[in-house]
Amino acid sequence: MSHEEFPTDRPAVVTCGLPYANGDLHVGHLRTYVGGDVYARALETLGQETAFVCGSDMHGTPVAVNADKEGVSPEEFALEWHETYKETFPQFDIAFDNYGHTHDATNTELTQEIVRDLAANGHIYEKEIMVAYDPIEDQHLPDRYVEGTCPYCGETARGDECDDGCQRHLEPGEIEDPVSSITGNPAEYHERTHKFFEVSEFTEYLTDFLDRLEGTSNAQNQPREWIESGLQDWCITRDLDWGIDYPEDAADADSDSDADSAGDDLVLYVWVDAPIEYIASTKQYSERVGSDTYDWEQPWKGAGEIVHVIGRDIIQHHAIFWPAMLHGADYNEPRAIMASGFVTLGGKGFSTSRNRAVWADEYLDEGFHPDLLRYYLATNGGFQQDVDFSWEKFRDRVNTELVGTLGNFVYRSLLFAARNYDGAPDTTVSDEVDDRIAEAVDDFTAAINDYSIRKAGNAAIDLAQFGNEYIQRNEPWNLVDDDPDAAEQVIYDCVQLSKALAVLFQPIAPETCGRLWEQLGETGAVADATVDVAHEAPQGEFGEPEELFEKIEAERVEALNEKLEQRVAEATADEETDADTTDADETDDDTMTDDTATDDDAQAADLEPIREERISFEDFQEIDIRVGEIVAAEGVEDADKLAKLQVDIGHEERQLVAGIKQLHDLSDLPGTRVIIVANLETAELFGVESNGMLLAAGEEADLLTTHGDAPIGTRIQ
Ligand SMILES: [Zn+2]
Repeated sequence: MSHEEFPTDRPAVVTCGLPYANGDLHVGHLRTYVGGDVYARALETLGQETAFVCGSDMHGTPVAVNADKEGVSPEEFALEWHETYKETFPQFDIAFDNYGHTHDATNTELTQEIVRDLAANGHIYEKEIMVAYDPIEDQHLPDRYVEGTCPYCGETARGDECDDGCQRHLEPGEIEDPVSSITGNPAEYHERTHKFFEVSEFTEYLTDFLDRLEGTSNAQNQPREWIESGLQDWCITRDLDWGIDYPEDAADADSDSDADSAGDDLVLYVWVDAPIEYIASTKQYSERVGSDTYDWEQPWKGAGEIVHVIGRDIIQHHAIFWPAMLHGADYNEPRAIMASGFVTLGGKGFSTSRNRAVWADEYLDEGFHPDLLRYYLATNGGFQQDVDFSWEKFRDRVNTELVGTLGNFVYRSLLFAARNYDGAPDTTVSDEVDDRIAEAVDDFTAAINDYSIRKAGNAAIDLAQFGNEYIQRNEPWNLVDDDPDAAEQVIYDCVQLSKALAVLFQPIAPETCGRLWEQLGETGAVADATVDVAHEAPQGEFGEPEELFEKIEAERVEALNEKLEQRVAEATADEETDADTTDADETDDDTMTDDTATDDDAQAADLEPIREERISFEDFQEIDIRVGEIVAAEGVEDADKLAKLQVDIGHEERQLVAGIKQLHDLSDLPGTRVIIVANLETAELFGVESNGMLLAAGEEADLLTTHGDAPIGTRIQ
């Protein structure tokens, strides 16, 4: 089944991955929201009826843990962030039709209703599982309360995600060597009765669903691999107070008595109620505007289109669990998932704890127009590619494309028109220009159907580029006296092109295109203009224009970089003095939006405490540590982080698997002296045998080496 092209005559809903109510928004976070907003606006420009909804993700353990630390209730803590987000998004013209939150009555009721439906349809069962428990604190340790080793890749994993390693969702009880993330106490596993959603029963459905799914290819391909390796059922309850209660009256597939149902003191896992907010928020929008204007049931239950815009770290939830839930509760499935890449800062990950970030409010405080950042984030790379932010690149894109190409064309055209004709000359558009506008509209339409906001932006910039060439080639300033008709034609064409640009570029730069619309003397809102308006005759009169964009000077960039560097240095110094206070805080672990690169060096904030228990010299002697030299290095296929290394250790060459793929340039590694543990038991990672362990320090896998000339194979003692 392939989908009908946009625009369809059915209502669409575009959603954005919910921001997790746990910390400030930085430029990296904005990528998904800008992307979603551009896409929703572009659909409307195509004439597609669209609702654009989102909300704050309030539940889950990171909020509970951090609220506890601040001595406030989780609700109070999360609501404060919710209010901040609600104020921040409009400042970037991210215009949700509804912005709710997961703790409100609409979402609570809808979540319980959907869980009841899933139970009634026989998709939920009870199972005894092992839950991590801190015996000293007498506390259960759901999700982020526990950390240990990922059973799949061996990386350190926290809670329910292996986000430093293989990116898998981890079920309760899966983490090996668990410790409490609050106290550092070793945890025990205790048996508890929990509710499970039988995702495995949906394997066939999901396989077909992925074939139908549109959007970015990563949202199809990764889930296919997960399905191939076998879907696990999903534990949907937690031993926690903060969250939506498991509905006690939900039918149990395999339990006769309701009296001792396990649901009584359990809340639903945050990932159950979070995506349901997409529906709840659409419903709130309908209730506000009236279902005659927009009927939420159309996209979710009737005939409509659902497009999810998310960060790539939450693909599994949106392409596996969520469609299974929707299908199991008789809702519609999403038509498309657009999963964005991460944003890095000057080639490195954002680090909120190190203040290595450009914050959303900081960007605005610097006096930059939101449209500049919208343009940068929307068009700097393909949506699923990682995008690097640096003030230099930002300046370059703004000065070259916005000021130099689009701004320059519009300004010179409208200024010429105003000075010579008090607006658009009295004629009609040439075939050449009308055809070129039609081509831009086609490119724009194709881009949106291809889920590429970058190509949609390029359609406008290319049209402006054509405009510059057109005016340059025809030199109207030389025609005014000798051939006034020809001059009028050229300038009229340029006004028409400017009008088309306002329409096509509005999704990316809504405020700027609103000003351009006013400069053209057009009435109504440019956001309401659909692509056919790009061909409509400009209304006649207007005065002299003002420049749309302002150039960014090089000195400005230097100052901004200095500021950033100084702040990072200060934050690092602070952390070093604070290092003895252990701190379970790492607020980057956003549940629904973590669209920034792995927090490269945030761990320095939480220096691991020195182990108190001592080992004997004999125990140490048991470990055979050797000097080696890397002979060859290549990435392990399908593993984001793992590299396969051949290491010469004197006696023999060893194959090792290490989690350094993204942290080192593998082609630089051959010839590097390294230190390895030679007598570690062998392990298999992603089907590749690892015979020993490469020693490296910290989150960035700083490789250990020697500084003298100890020969290869030397034992370290
Ligand atoms: Zn893992």
